[in-house]
Amino acid sequence: MKKYIFIQILILIFSFAVNAQVSFDDYFVKKTLRLDYIQAGDANSSVIYFEQMKCEPYWGGTVKNLVDKFNYGEYRLCVNDLSTGKLIYSRGYSTLFQEWQTSDEAKTLPRSFYETVVFPFPKKPVKIELQRRNRDGKLEKKFELNINPEDYFIREEIPVKYDFKKTHDGGDPNSKVDIVIIPDGYSKDDMEKFDADVKRFMGYFFSCSPYKENKNNFNFWAVYAPSEESGTDIPGKRVYKNTIVNASFYTFNTERYLMTTDVRKLRDIAANVPYDQIMILVNSPMYGGGGVFNYYSIVSSDDSYSDYVMCHEFGHSFGDLADEYWTSDVAVNDYFNQKIEPVQPNITTMVDFASKWKNLVDKDVPVPTPNDPKYYNKVGAFEGGGYVEKGIFRPKFDCTMKSRSRDNFCPVCRKALDEMIKFYCDK
Ligand SMILES: [Zn+2]
Repeated sequence: MKKYIFIQILILIFSFAVNAQVSFDDYFVKKTLRLDYIQAGDANSSVIYFEQMKCEPYWGGTVKNLVDKFNYGEYRLCVNDLSTGKLIYSRGYSTLFQEWQTSDEAKTLPRSFYETVVFPFPKKPVKIELQRRNRDGKLEKKFELNINPEDYFIREEIPVKYDFKKTHDGGDPNSKVDIVIIPDGYSKDDMEKFDADVKRFMGYFFSCSPYKENKNNFNFWAVYAPSEESGTDIPGKRVYKNTIVNASFYTFNTERYLMTTDVRKLRDIAANVPYDQIMILVNSPMYGGGGVFNYYSIVSSDDSYSDYVMCHEFGHSFGDLADEYWTSDVAVNDYFNQKIEPVQPNITTMVDFASKWKNLVDKDVPVPTPNDPKYYNKVGAFEGGGYVEKGIFRPKFDCTMKSRSRDNFCPVCRKALDEMIKFYCDK
């Protein structure tokens, strides 16, 4: 009898496990449905307005892990099968809008930002929901839309075609992390330089842990989309260039913050290849860059710290790693609510340290960890991080998410990146 019950329990557990998995082929085809919208508001409020839907030719994402197992990102895209209500795809993400909301400008000037989400193209009608965290960290519905894949307003126009090259081949895009590198400020005459820069940056990337141990788990794609002019915008110096994705320094009036708000153009160019992550390479010798989780990362090509900036910003866009520094000038104010545990894996407010890296701290390391050189090589909880000196703690004295050193991710950041790589590469 006992044996019988045991078998019954096993069958039950097995059927739960099977039900939890979503079979890609049951619900999706290997193309992308892109939903574009405008998010507008001010420091305290925001509204989402529908813009357009597009069918893009490839799906570069995983076909295995369709439901997001991480709790990262300020926002979450949920795709539900309309007839059964079953969650068939979800992803966390963040936006430039949410950063801007904590800037001084947002206190007095309402603004709008173009945003996009992508998911595999559904076979049957779906209901999509865009959720956002409230100040307590709980996800709340901001927008919903029923989508019929037969809808003739889903634009099927072919993206503007550009030459592209798979510059690093790890294998099948559906079980690898695909990074598409988009050039900005490279004219037609600069394409040889772009080629050389892509090689150089892949070299930086693969000299950094945990990427170097995962060389076969990445694909790199370069899309040769030329700009009218070389260089980029530097508004504070009254320098303006006509470039293909309109990147600019002085984002939110911070000189080194190099970003673009033209994500529509960016996605259109990226759609030339199957991809998971967009990386923009800006033809400029000035120091700067940026990275937002599941949005994009961006770096200038020819500063002496460009190698570090690339690895650091990709940490944001791929792993939702937080900045572990607090001394540099930033545009955001009170970015993290210290009354709750932030979702980012590499900082803690100590509200729920056990949910972070507490288990990686040796018994002989005190928490909080003093700024004593004898602990510099240990994992602990060092105060200072997330743009504030007090109340937010980081895992190690130094890390690529803290200071300008390329191959120096702390063990907690490395672990988080490793887990994300596995999530993309599961077969
Ligand atoms: Zn770290």
